[in-house]
Amino acid sequence: MDHDVIVVGAGPVGLLLACELRLAGVGVAVLEQRAERGPHTKAMAVHARTVEQLAMRGLAEPLLTAGVRLPSWQFGFLGTRIDFTAIDSPYPFVLTFPQNRTEALLEEKAIELGATVTRGVEVTAVSQDDAGVRVNDLTAAWVVGADGANSAVRKAADIGFHGIEARFYSYLGDVQADDPPPPGFDVVNEHGAMMVAPMPGGVYRIAGYDPDHQEHDGRREITLDELNDICRRIAGREFGIHDPKWLSRFGNTTKVAERYRAGRVLLAGDAAHMHFPAGGNGLNLGLQDALNLGWKLAAVVQGRAPDELLDSYDTERRPWGDDVARHTMAQTALITATTPEGLALRELLGDLIGEFPDVSLRLARRLSAIDVAYPPADPAAHPLTGTRVPEADLHDAKPLLLSPRPLPHASITATRLGVRVATGPTTMIVRPDGYVWWATDDDDPDGVAVTALDGLGVSF
Ligand SMILES: Cc1cc2nc3c(=O)[nH]c(=O)nc-3n(C[C@H](O)[C@H](O)[C@H](O)COP(=O)(O)OP(=O)(O)OC[C@H]3O[C@@H](n4cnc5c(N)ncnc54)[C@H](O)[C@@H]3O)c2cc1C
Repeated sequence: MDHDVIVVGAGPVGLLLACELRLAGVGVAVLEQRAERGPHTKAMAVHARTVEQLAMRGLAEPLLTAGVRLPSWQFGFLGTRIDFTAIDSPYPFVLTFPQNRTEALLEEKAIELGATVTRGVEVTAVSQDDAGVRVNDLTAAWVVGADGANSAVRKAADIGFHGIEARFYSYLGDVQADDPPPPGFDVVNEHGAMMVAPMPGGVYRIAGYDPDHQEHDGRREITLDELNDICRRIAGREFGIHDPKWLSRFGNTTKVAERYRAGRVLLAGDAAHMHFPAGGNGLNLGLQDALNLGWKLAAVVQGRAPDELLDSYDTERRPWGDDVARHTMAQTALITATTPEGLALRELLGDLIGEFPDVSLRLARRLSAIDVAYPPADPAAHPLTGTRVPEADLHDAKPLLLSPRPLPHASITATRLGVRVATGPTTMIVRPDGYVWWATDDDDPDGVAVTALDGLGVSF
């Protein structure tokens, strides 16, 4: 066997997964078709749950230092913005940080931890049998397709990818602007939709929906002159745009893989789910996939947990992929609502969000993914099981046994299993991805914690 795990794709998701696997000492090779990282940045928004989880690994500092913290964020370009200051997170804001810089940080970390990242290798063939997988001419025990929306791994494993084909195409221009609109500018009117967001280096991202430019299946690149014309028509004036860094169009194809695992093949990130970037969720969703999958795959590879643990990756993460897909469809319905009826609906929804802070809070919790939880099937489980832990030191990707009091017997068992022990408000075991694995209200938790640790079926 050449490797324990081959990760296909050195996008942000594949690179974070490589870090997770290396933290556990798993041999990992990342294969990337591009000779070098692309010059453009797709994602800008890093949401609160992603920051929380990166902070648990000690990876959030560069993003928090260089990123811009926005207290509010748009939903479907509605006139009323969503307030993020009220979410119960140590990071009550939307952080903007360019995706290509996140990728650079993760690649550096993955290599520092001992992953090999090989560029210029396109994966064209993936097969599996009971013993392992073959990826091109390499062998491994497992393969993870983190190879984006057109995933060759997903296709080779014959995993269905269902949803809707693109119904409209958005325009995008990252350009210099001599006369830009004020920060937070977005508009939807009878001519179309537009948002303008400042990016580093004096660049502005201008993106939205133009009903007049849906020709050629919308796949042809937009020109600077066309973008200027769109600004004039939709925003009512020109912004003095020039020196484009990226001019593009992209559709609202929305699909989720019918399963995230087929035997020894796993999918993560855009390979498992694709949707319109409304709300800025795709990268966040994918990074959270990587953190859910990494410790489970490491435990199975090293024989510390049964194979079935990997099925929980599908049952826990796929519903959230579906949920984000639906959420983005709701937003695209609002962004393209340029008819008089659509504009009236938008106004009504904007008013409701402004009038009822609970509605705004609910949307902020959803967009930031702090409402993600993995409730157990067992109704007798403690109510905290599967809930999110906002802050914990999980830098080594090992679980934590927390308790307000010393647990002499449980501490011995925890040490044997590789679980770290620390002081916390409730007696609980926190999974490496920051969710409660087990909790108790027992007055004398030492003995029950020993039983719980022995029953987890995973050692670290
Ligand atoms: C305009 C735009 C704005 C966005 N804004 C946001 C945002 O604000 N917030 C957010 O969360 N998300 C956003 N997204 C979505 C986000 O960019 C993606 O969800 C994210 O890139 C997914 O990461 P990934 O690693 O899964 O896939 P990718 O970034 O697509 O990486 C996949 C990698 O696999 C490689 N690869 C593909 N096929 C092969 C092969 N056969 N062999 C070897 N290598 C292969 C590719 O070259 C690529 O490097 C945006 C997307 C767009 C288009």
